[in-house]
Amino acid sequence: MNKNVKRSLISYLVLFALIFGVLALVSNGSQNVDKSYTEQNFAEDVKKGTVASVYVQQNAEVPTGTVEVTKKDYSKVIFYVTDVNDFQKQCEKLDLSEKKIRFQMSDVVRPSVLERMLPYIIGVIGFVILIMLMVGMQGAGGGGGSMANFGKSRAKMTSEADNKITFEDVAGLREEKEDLEEVVDFLKSPSKYVELGARIPKGILLVGPPGTGKTLLAKAVAGEAHVPFFTISGSDFVEMFVGVGASRVRDLFAEAKRNAPCIIFIDEIDAVARRRGTGLGGGHDEREQTLNQMLVEMDGFNVNEGIIVLAATNRVDILDPAILRPGRFDRKVSVGRPDVGGREEILKVHTKKKPLSDDIDLHEIARTTSGFSGADLENLMNESAISAAKDNRKFIVKEDVDKAFIKVGIGTERKSRIIPEEDRRITAYHEAGHAILFHVLKDVGPVRTVSIIPTGESAAGYTMPLPENDNMHCTRGKLLQDIKVSLGGRIAEEMIMDDITTGASQDIKQATAAARAMVVKYGMSAELGLINYETDNEEETFVGRDIGHRKMLGEQTASTIDREVKRIVDECYVDARKILEEHIAALHLCAERLLEKERIDQEEFEALFDEAMA
Ligand code: ADP
Ligand code: MG
Ligand code: ZN
Repeated sequence: MNKNVKRSLISYLVLFALIFGVLALVSNGSQNVDKSYTEQNFAEDVKKGTVASVYVQQNAEVPTGTVEVTKKDYSKVIFYVTDVNDFQKQCEKLDLSEKKIRFQMSDVVRPSVLERMLPYIIGVIGFVILIMLMVGMQGAGGGGGSMANFGKSRAKMTSEADNKITFEDVAGLREEKEDLEEVVDFLKSPSKYVELGARIPKGILLVGPPGTGKTLLAKAVAGEAHVPFFTISGSDFVEMFVGVGASRVRDLFAEAKRNAPCIIFIDEIDAVARRRGTGLGGGHDEREQTLNQMLVEMDGFNVNEGIIVLAATNRVDILDPAILRPGRFDRKVSVGRPDVGGREEILKVHTKKKPLSDDIDLHEIARTTSGFSGADLENLMNESAISAAKDNRKFIVKEDVDKAFIKVGIGTERKSRIIPEEDRRITAYHEAGHAILFHVLKDVGPVRTVSIIPTGESAAGYTMPLPENDNMHCTRGKLLQDIKVSLGGRIAEEMIMDDITTGASQDIKQATAAARAMVVKYGMSAELGLINYETDNEEETFVGRDIGHRKMLGEQTASTIDREVKRIVDECYVDARKILEEHIAALHLCAERLLEKERIDQEEFEALFDEAMA
C-alpha cells in the first residue's frame, strides 16, 4: 500500500466518522426509538387497556414526532410518527380520555440557535479538515482534485488561446452579431473609445428561448476579441451556505479585473436576479445577497475598465428591475428562434464535418423544422450521424435525418413546436392581415417585422410596427386605426378560410379595450359626451369590470357604453375589411412569402406590397 492510498484512506475514515457524528447529534440519538412498535400496535394496546399515558413530542418545522407511551406496568415504548396531527386524530378516535389515558402533546420543539447551527458548524469544520487533507495530498504529489477552490469563484476561465469560437460559428443571428460587433471592437482596442470619452455598456443581456445560441454568442464575442472569458451560471450561486454566493461574486469580479480586458458571462441570470422580496421568508435570503453583491460589483468598476458583463436569460419579465438600470444591464439583445434562412445556415455549420449523401437537401430540412432552435438542429444532425454510424455507413442519408427527426421531434415540448401546415397557413394570413393594415393606415406602422415563427408562449406569430414616436396626444383617428389593425388578423382569417380560429382572442381584447377607453375615458363618443365613466382601475380589472361597473353606473348608462363600444368596433371592422379586400393581392402575396420565409422585414414587406398592388 503506497503512501497516497493510505492518506486518502485516512481522509475517508475521518469523513465517515464526521458524518456519523453529525447524524448521531442531529437525530437526538439519546432516545431509543422502537422501530418494531407501530401506531397499529399502539391502537391494539389502547384497546387492551395496557396503556397509562401518551406523550407526543413534535419536531420543529416538519410534522413528524416521537411518541412516548407509558404502559400500566411502568414500561415505556418510544416510537416515531410521520405526522403528529394524523396521530392526534387517531388518538381522538380511540377515545383516550374515556379510557383515562393521559394524552399530552408538546409544543413544537424549536432547537436553540446554537443547536440549529451545530450541524452546520460541524459540517464546516469537517469540510475544512477534508480540504486540508486533500491539499496535503496534492502537496504530496497525489491528484487531489480541485476541491481546494471551494468558496472561491467557481467561474470557469477560458483563456484566449483555448477559445476558438468566433462569429463564424454562430449561424444566422445577423442583427444580434451586429449589435455585439462594437463590444468586440471595444475589447480589442479600449483606448480608442476611452480617448473619445465614449461610454461603452457595462452589461448586456442576451434574451431568448433556450438553445438559440446565447451562450455560443457570448463565447464568440470573447473569441473575436481575443480576450479571456469567465463563465458562471446563475444556478451555481444558489448555495446552501449563506454568504458563499456573494463571496463568489466578489472573487469572480476580482479575478476578472486582474485579467481585463475580458468578458464575464453569467448564464441563467434569472436564477439569482429574480425580483427581490419574493423569496420565501422575505428576508435576506442567499439569492438576494448574491444579487446585491453583483449590483455592487457592477456599480463598482469603471465604465471603461475593459470588463463587459454578458448575461443570458429566457425570462426578462421575472428579472429584478434593479439590474436593468443604467450602468448595469442597460443593453438588451434579443436572440430569437431562427427563420428558414437561419436554420439552413445553422444546418450548414453543423454538417460541415459530417459527410452528406446527395439526397440530403439542407434547404428542405430547414423548411420542415419550423420552430426548431439552433440546439434542436444541432441535435437533429447529431442523431442523424449516429444513425448513419450504426448502419456502418460513411455518410448520412436522408433516411437517417428522417429517423432523427422522429426521435428529436418526439419530446412533448418539441412536438408542440412542430406546426402543422394548415396552422402555419392560418397564421400567415392572420399576420399578413395585421401587416397590410399597418401599412395602409397612415397613423400606424410602418411594419418593421412580420413573422410566423412561434415565439414560445401563446402567440403563433407577430407583426411589429416601428416603435411609435412619443406623441403626447393620441388622436381619435389613430385610436380607430389601432382598432382596425387589431381586427385585421381575424378578418384575414375569415376572408381566406372556411372557418375562424381562437388565435385572435388577444387582438379582440385589445380592440375592445381601446374602444372602451375612447368611450369612457377620452370622451370620444358623442352620445355619452365629455364625461369620465371610468371605474376605479379600468385597465387592471378588465375582466371583473362589469360587476362593479354596472352597479356604479346604473343600467341605462352601462348599456349605452356597451352599445357605443360595439358601434365603434363594428365600424372599424367594416372599414378594415374593406381595406383588406381592396388589397387582397398583397394579402395573398404577403402570406405566401411568410410561408416561404417565415419572417419578412420592412424592406421586403414594402417591396412585396408594391409588387402586388402594381
Ligand atoms: P442557449 O445558451 O441560448 O440556451 P446555446 O448557445 O447553449 O443556447 O446553444 C446550444 C447549442 O446549439 C450550441 O452549442 C450550438 O451547437 C447550437 N446552436 C444554437 N444556436 C446556434 C447558431 N445560431 N449557430 C450555430 N449553432 C447554434
Ligand atoms: Mg446557454
Ligand atoms: Zn393577431
